[in-house]
Amino acid sequence: MNRVPFVDLKAQYSSIKSEIDEAIENVITETAFIGGKYVTRFEEEFASLYGVKHCISVANGTDSLYILMKMLNIGAGDEVITVANSWISSSETISQTGARPVFIDIDPQFYTLNEELLEKAITPRTKAIIPVHLFGQVCDMDKIMKIANRHSIPVIEDCAQSHFSEFKGEKAGSIGIAGSFSFYPGKNLGAYGDAGCIITNNDELALKCKMYARHGALKKHSHEMEGINSRLDGIQAAILSAKLPHILDWTEKRINNSVIYNNLLIDNPHVVLPLVRPDSKHTFHLYVIKHEKRDALAEYLKEKGIETAIHYPVALPNMKAYQYLNHKKSDFPVSSANQDKILSLPMYPELTKEQIEYVCNCIKEFDIK
Ligand SMILES: *Cc1c(COP(=O)(O)O)cnc(C)c1O
Repeated sequence: MNRVPFVDLKAQYSSIKSEIDEAIENVITETAFIGGKYVTRFEEEFASLYGVKHCISVANGTDSLYILMKMLNIGAGDEVITVANSWISSSETISQTGARPVFIDIDPQFYTLNEELLEKAITPRTKAIIPVHLFGQVCDMDKIMKIANRHSIPVIEDCAQSHFSEFKGEKAGSIGIAGSFSFYPGKNLGAYGDAGCIITNNDELALKCKMYARHGALKKHSHEMEGINSRLDGIQAAILSAKLPHILDWTEKRINNSVIYNNLLIDNPHVVLPLVRPDSKHTFHLYVIKHEKRDALAEYLKEKGIETAIHYPVALPNMKAYQYLNHKKSDFPVSSANQDKILSLPMYPELTKEQIEYVCNCIKEFDIK
């Protein structure tokens, strides 16, 4: 039987094994475990690829959001707006600061924050907006920045799923006051453990975030404030640096794979294909279709050896964790309807044309049955 995994991290490791092994060995030989040249090197390389002034490495892509909000002085009594369909980090970090998460529904076409609902959600307590460039798809940053600027509210871009995505030629993460990245192993740029970073052109914010993530000190034993411990370790930094020369190639391969999927699925009337926002670069962290019989289809594909996933099976405001906000499913009609229909198909750079053909044939078989 054919087997198509949802992601295949081993395939990527095999393709650059000697580079990764050497990177790890160097860190160990030099005992550069925390801080030091490998961490600095990665920060410089990532900032330079993004054309931004600062990259502050942190322990993961949840801390990056939390640190940014803390350093923008967000806390109790404040509200932060984010989107109803995302990974819980986007909203849980808002609560972590003491502020209240305010959810808005997704756009029916592009599945990201519906910009048309944004202005209505703003109150005098709103202290930040966190648009999430979900699945690799960017939000309409023109509309978001225009509204945010009119109200002088900072925009933190959650780029955990959108490394090197672009909106009108500008890289996601470099448009708002800061971009927040995760390098969780399965992300488009993934470490071999937890890792994340913040990018920004704002000197003051960069300095504060760096200090806060390192116990409030830029120099050892000189704590200007209390902070937290959120560091990228040397081994993860060296692995990320080893991967960086390949990331644009891997991104192109994801995009090519999305085109192969589209071409094979376009004639299938039961499948709703993912749309790409005009004037943008969608980097396909996930290839998400919609299907009326989603659960049965996923089960059928599983029997055929094809792994799928759902991002996400329950929209954030519909979760038990947010029961206290007293939302009804009808408050978020698009997210609530989508959660029963969306299906993420296998997607990674090393996925072959034959594997995609097999997946699409199996979907066709299911729909003909
Ligand atoms: C993965 C992810 C995060 C959190 O990243 P971690 O590194 O796992 O903490 C935040 N937001 C979104 C949208 C994500 O997909």
